[in-house]
Amino acid sequence: MFYPTLDGQPYSHYVGKCVCVGRNYAAHAKELNNPIPSAPILFHKPANAVVAAAPSFTIPKQQGSVHHELEIALLIGKTLTKANEQQALEAVVGVGLALDLTLRDVQSQLKEKGQPWEMAKAFDGACPVTDFVTPPNDIHWKNLPLSLKRNGQVQQQGNSGDMLFPMIALVAHISQFFTLNPGDLVLTGTPAGVGPLQEGDQLELALSDWILASTQVKADE
Ligand code: ZN
Repeated sequence: MFYPTLDGQPYSHYVGKCVCVGRNYAAHAKELNNPIPSAPILFHKPANAVVAAAPSFTIPKQQGSVHHELEIALLIGKTLTKANEQQALEAVVGVGLALDLTLRDVQSQLKEKGQPWEMAKAFDGACPVTDFVTPPNDIHWKNLPLSLKRNGQVQQQGNSGDMLFPMIALVAHISQFFTLNPGDLVLTGTPAGVGPLQEGDQLELALSDWILASTQVKADE
C-alpha cells in the first residue's frame, strides 16, 4: 500500500487507484498522430502502479521503449460520486506530479489490434508520484506550468491552461462513472514532448514553484 505525502507528511489514506485521462493536450495528441478527443478518454492504473518518484524509480527492461508522460496529479480527500464542480474542487486536497509511464511499443501493438491499453499503462510501478502540496488559496487551476528535464535538457514543458478538459471539471466528470475515494489520484494528461527513458537518466520534475523533484531512472533485472 502506498501512502502519498501531503505537505511532507504521510497522507491518512493509501492510494486505491489512479484515474487517468489520455490526450488532454492537443499538441500531445498530434505528436502521436491521434485525433483530438471530443470527450475525455479515461483509463485506470491500479494501486500497485503507484510508487515514489524520488530519489529513484524503476522501469521494465524487457518490454521495449518506456516513455515518460509528465502529468499534474490530484490527490482526492473526499468520497466523490456524481459530483458537481464545486464538490470536486472541495475534494482535491493535494496537487503534485506523476509520471504516466507507458510501454510505447506495447501500446502501439495493442492499439493496432484495437485492444485495451492496460498492459502498457497499468503495470507495477507505472505511476511514480512526487510529494503533494495543499493547493494554495490563490491557485489558478488553469495556469499551472509544469516541466520535465531529462539529463539537463527540457523535454516536456506545458501549462494546465492548454488542457482540453480542465482539471476540476475533469474530476467531476470522472465521478459520474467511477466513485473516487480518499487517497485516489487523478492524472490529468501530458503535454507534448513525451519520449523514451534510459537506465541512469537524471530527471527534474517541476510544478509551478511548489514542487521540484530530482530523481534517477533505474531498470529492473
Ligand atoms: Zn498520460
